[in-house]
Amino acid sequence: MKTLRLILGDQLNSKHSWFRTVDDEVTYALFEMRQETDYVRHHIQKVIGFFAAMRHFAEHLTSRGHQVIYYKINDDKNDQDLVENLKKIISEKSIKRFEYIAPDEYRLDKQLTDFCSNLDIETECYSAEHFYTTRAELAMFFKGKKQYLMENFYRDMRRKHDILMVGDQPEGGKWNYDKSNRNKWKGDTPIPPYKYFQNQVSEVVNDIEKAQIKTLGHFKTKTFNYPILRDQALDQLKYFCEHLLIHFGDYQDAMHTDQEFLFHSRLSFAMNLKLISAQDVVKTVLNYYRKNSENIDISQVEGFIRQVIGWREYMRGMYWAFMPEYKSLNTLENTNTLPEFFWTGDTKMNCLKQAITNSLDNGYAHHIQRLMITGNYALLTQIHPDEVDAWYLGIYIDAIEWVQLPNTRGMSQFADGGKIATKPYVSSGSYIHKMSNYCSGCQYNKTKKTGKDACPFNSLYWNFLDDKRPQLESNFRMKMMYSLLNKMDQKQLSEIKEKAKHIIENPNEY
Ligand code: FAD
Ligand code: SF4
Repeated sequence: MKTLRLILGDQLNSKHSWFRTVDDEVTYALFEMRQETDYVRHHIQKVIGFFAAMRHFAEHLTSRGHQVIYYKINDDKNDQDLVENLKKIISEKSIKRFEYIAPDEYRLDKQLTDFCSNLDIETECYSAEHFYTTRAELAMFFKGKKQYLMENFYRDMRRKHDILMVGDQPEGGKWNYDKSNRNKWKGDTPIPPYKYFQNQVSEVVNDIEKAQIKTLGHFKTKTFNYPILRDQALDQLKYFCEHLLIHFGDYQDAMHTDQEFLFHSRLSFAMNLKLISAQDVVKTVLNYYRKNSENIDISQVEGFIRQVIGWREYMRGMYWAFMPEYKSLNTLENTNTLPEFFWTGDTKMNCLKQAITNSLDNGYAHHIQRLMITGNYALLTQIHPDEVDAWYLGIYIDAIEWVQLPNTRGMSQFADGGKIATKPYVSSGSYIHKMSNYCSGCQYNKTKKTGKDACPFNSLYWNFLDDKRPQLESNFRMKMMYSLLNKMDQKQLSEIKEKAKHIIENPNEY
């Protein structure tokens, strides 16, 4: 029976059971489409990376003897729409069966479910064979829960998959070494040079230009530096184990003007395209740790494993538990718009300049830059979560809605009213100073709340707490901050609020 199997751009899993045998009756289809390049304005490197990885994947399948239909972005036969492309192939090739891998995005999942319900041939949906948890398992875990704490989910995952466990107890005696993951990097712990792949992508770049796809950010290096092949992703993982794991936990939250990546793995792009699986990552890291445990502390390893089997899988669970409603939540009723400097990095606030420039140059910022610099600023200035989502979904090379949305709207913007975070991730300049060297190169004074040279984060912070009293004052974890706010002199508070108002209304002056 003639079968058509669809592979989406983030389903490049060469280890999927689909590819175990070669079957002449099976044709695989991959499409570069305006439907995918235009639903948000993406970073130029993101579009390059997706197309380059997809083209390599199609070549890999062909070299293994599989039959592949590949539509490049400018191909005449490409209708630029998933359903139209599929319909045409099904009709022209007299396809009798259509199969696809469950998309991780709600948008595509709905499109394909609707498409299949209108088809009069057999259809089947397969697992991505990438995550630790299936969508059905996630639904079971979250069903009927009043609280959705990541820590509970994470412990469950550790037990279920016997990861860093000794019997039923956590290895090393603690579930979580988060408290030891909060060091400032002062330059005394050397960071080895980054691993770059220098993939040649000029053909892809030309095609993107010819198609006049609107993008954001820069592509200064002219070679694509993230992994686009499984072997490259495995190389990157090996490099992480050998050079970066040793201090991953220590400096997980640190930020520094000279270091764009610090000890972070930069594996998210390869993982989110499914070039390597969560299991590949976890098993490799644990094997390396077992062989080198005299040099590497468990806190480094646990810190990393928590991100992969904890946060990553948990975010996916939350996405599927609450979509599609989640995408329109705005509990704090924020309405402002993102300032222009989010697209240029042209701001006097050094912390924002560093985080945004890293994002524009590399399609990358590490977690704390995303959460405590750009996210913090967006929340303190009360930007509408739709605006914040669109920026995050566009700018990061690893941004796919299933993982971007819960991180941004939930964890960072508290727009879900606390489903993911137990309190808003907001801070004044003191936290930023504690974790980085940004403030020493900034024209603002990190300790001042008012006055021309006062750090904008300080007035914004207290103004935010005051503005959001109705939604936040009863939050147990905010009690201490509200008791400080309540003790604040009224004249001082009104000066602070005046200052914050000016910043919110004139962001590009700062
Ligand atoms: P490392 O620090 O080396 O971490 C290892 C791996 O753990 C990552 O590759 C990633 O797969 C996983 N991971 C770590 N934290 C998270 C998390 N909170 N959620 C899911 N996975 C996690 N991650 C994305 O993959 N795509 C996104 O679109 C995305 N948007 C974000 C938006 C905001 C506002 C915030 C605060 C975080 C976001 N994250 C997102 C999570 C995290 O910032 C990135 O996964 C990480 O920075 C990727 O860099 P890395 O590979 O060097 O990660
Ligand atoms: Fe950012 Fe304020 Fe520090 Fe400047 S002083 S880097 S604006 S936190």
